Amino acid sequence: MYNLEDKIVVVTGGARGIGFSITQKFAKQGAISIILDLDQDAIDKAVKEIDDAGYRALGYNTDVTNNKAIKKLFNKIYDEFGKIDILVNNAGITKDGLLMKMKEEDWDKVITVNLKGTYNCTQAISRYLLKQREGVIINIASIIGIMGNAGQANYAASKGGIIALTKSTAKEFAARNIRVNSIAPGFIKTKMTDKLSDEIIDSYSKAIPLSRMGLPEDVANLCIFLASDQSSYITGQTINIDGGLIM
Ligand code: NDP
Repeated sequence: MYNLEDKIVVVTGGARGIGFSITQKFAKQGAISIILDLDQDAIDKAVKEIDDAGYRALGYNTDVTNNKAIKKLFNKIYDEFGKIDILVNNAGITKDGLLMKMKEEDWDKVITVNLKGTYNCTQAISRYLLKQREGVIINIASIIGIMGNAGQANYAASKGGIIALTKSTAKEFAARNIRVNSIAPGFIKTKMTDKLSDEIIDSYSKAIPLSRMGLPEDVANLCIFLASDQSSYITGQTINIDGGLIM
């Protein structure tokens, strides 16, 4: 149905959490999933799990904030496979704190990983997608980038920036048949949200009309749809996946 057989898919932060679920889901659809992540052990474990299940994945230990290394890596991937079809900009971090007390380094780090990392990978892949006149970019934003959140000014700004970047690149690339969309997850059960106290999780879950936190697979399912031809007339959009938390 999704026709993703033999597609070359790069997923940043693809070794863990939502990124791993996305990597796994693409591989199950017959794609070759390429993980870019920081921790070699996590990459090896993720690749092995996909290999053992009979699907295809490989991984590179790379920091999305390193513009030169990212350009080199995309060049290597293109040389090896002769094409790159899909990029999922998923790598992201939080460093929460009230703005009054937020350290400059915590502001910089979150903006650099989340927003500049998305710019780095988008720019690196764009020369190949533009040449191919075909491709899909999916950016993992957050509902926090739409609604804001006390204690997450850096994270909200980075995700709001990703939504604006999505619209601008969708406009720049549309004439070459390249679609760019964002996914804005709500509260999804991963290492990132495991840091939250039971009290906070409980209060958010009560506010979610579907009365539960999301699962990484929920996000991965939307990602597959947005990467496939089933969504061929959708570009520049941000789709919330949050159990109805914001409407
Ligand atoms: P996790 O922390 O579970 O996974 C993030 C992955 O990104 C990790 O493998 C991490 O590596 C990797 N990563 C971090 N920094 C870099 C970097 N500089 N270069 C390459 N890889 C990096 O997070 P989630 O799966 O929860 O989140 C995935 C995305 O979804 C993020 O963009 C997040 O903002 C977004 N999101 C998540 C929500 C949630 O509720 N979980 C809600 C809304 C959005 P390592 O662990 O080794 O540092």
